[in-house]
Amino acid sequence: MEILKNACKFPLVKFAPQKPSLFGETLDSLKEQVVAAGHQPFRAKQVMEWLYKKRVDSWDKMTNLPKDFRAWLDETYILYPTAPVIDKRSDDVTQKLLLELEDKSLIETVLIRAPQKGVGQEDSRKTVCVSIQVGCAYGCKFCASGLAGFKRNLMAAEVVSQLMHICRREDAHTQRAKEEIASFDNIVFMGMGEPLANYETLVQTIKILNADWGLNFGARRITVSTSGLAPQIMKLAEEGVAVRLAISLHGATNEVRSQIMPINKKYPLEELIPAAKAFQQRHGRMLTLEFILIQDVNDSLEQAHELAKIAKELHAHVNCIPYNKVEGLEWVRPSVRRQDAFVDVLRKANVSTTIRREKGHDINAACGQLRLKTERSMAEAEAKPSSPFVAPES
Ligand code: SAH
Ligand code: SF4
Repeated sequence: MEILKNACKFPLVKFAPQKPSLFGETLDSLKEQVVAAGHQPFRAKQVMEWLYKKRVDSWDKMTNLPKDFRAWLDETYILYPTAPVIDKRSDDVTQKLLLELEDKSLIETVLIRAPQKGVGQEDSRKTVCVSIQVGCAYGCKFCASGLAGFKRNLMAAEVVSQLMHICRREDAHTQRAKEEIASFDNIVFMGMGEPLANYETLVQTIKILNADWGLNFGARRITVSTSGLAPQIMKLAEEGVAVRLAISLHGATNEVRSQIMPINKKYPLEELIPAAKAFQQRHGRMLTLEFILIQDVNDSLEQAHELAKIAKELHAHVNCIPYNKVEGLEWVRPSVRRQDAFVDVLRKANVSTTIRREKGHDINAACGQLRLKTERSMAEAEAKPSSPFVAPES
């Protein structure tokens, strides 16, 4: 099976950093460490304030902490486990960060600004798209992250720090920093990797983001996107974190879906749909079905009719995304006329539907590609044929 083939080809690399990052701790776990080292328990709360409210980037800036305590922090922890190598504020719409991890792996984080009519850039709606794995083992045929294979899971600190990098950059441009709240509006797990395949990190990260001592960011403003790991969807439904769920459907029948998403062979629609339904019923919130439109693969009107049936059963919103070109893949984006005809079928069936068209606004295309490009050119430069970042055989 393709998924297993990929997973064997790119075995899980266990990564043990020399010192943990503070961004992986909760208030309770930090308090335990602080007390065990003979310091006052209230110091933990002060540290969290420096991290998440004042958002400093060095121990020296934590000015209300005694010197010996700062020395202990420095011996025990690192601050950021991720370092920006490319910081592209390409236009007013997107900002892409390519981050290097301690083991030199690369991941991407993207901020998308959706300008709102009649207001300045400061008030545009800002969504951060985070990565949760280095690469992805699921090998969807249209995806840059899948193309690069799977290297390892990220730790919670590596996910949280992506958001803090963006937060610090936005703070510099916005009034919101003074209110000590996050300087963006939404978080989507739509970057590199499959969130439900790194379940513990996902839940730990959401808890840190949610906490009042943390970023104080409501779960309702967090969307987890999954390619459809049915058992983990059920587990997440019972987890007690009220995040939004988006399902990457991309095929409205097993035949079409299996052609482009190998995961469908493991969890076909007859397993995925009931799991999604259970999640929807547990939380009472509308689900989103993501549907990439790829010419002559899944853009027929029959697919649109089938998709409408699924959306109605799940009480879901459909987000159509015209396929974004990935270097090295031959898929084609359908014409605007074909896209319109597809959306028409859905709307006529009274399914709430959006279609993303604007160049550069597309969060899905944004993630994975910068890293793939960089890895490829580095591999070429170093002529490293044994690099794990080569396209898996199709
Ligand atoms: N693994 C998760 C989350 C990361 S992918 C998932 O699959 O849902 C985030 C979204 O980007 C998914 O909906 C995915 O299908 C979409 N995507 C991947 N490659 C794309 C491309 N070339 N064009 C448009 N969307 C793409
Ligand atoms: Fe992985 Fe999602 Fe890309 Fe599929 S679409 S390869 S699950 S990141």
